[in-house]
Amino acid sequence: MPENQTSEVQYDRWKRLKYHPDLHPRQRERYSDNENVYICKHYVRGSVKTLALDVGRTEHSVRQHVNHLRKLGKFEHYRLQDEVYCESCFDLLFADDVKVCDSCSQNNT
Ligand SMILES: [Zn+2]
Repeated sequence: MPENQTSEVQYDRWKRLKYHPDLHPRQRERYSDNENVYICKHYVRGSVKTLALDVGRTEHSVRQHVNHLRKLGKFEHYRLQDEVYCESCFDLLFADDVKVCDSCSQNNT
């Protein structure tokens, strides 16, 4: 996406935030297992807006993904797992197979 693109925040007709690169940095990434756990644990009707911002994706994307997980019968599976935290700063970890978050691993190198 070109950098000179408008950075204005926009909403769709259901007052949902449209995709915005600053607010939704993970929009184009695959949903990781840790992220699925977080989403399924915190997915409550009425608070999807906040949840979507937490994981850096649009509300629309998160809702679609949850429907997808439910169809696969994976929703409960993920909901019952434990969330994973960075060993260094105790922030939530969304990437799989790592022990520290991005910013901590960058500080180490
Ligand atoms: Zn960290």
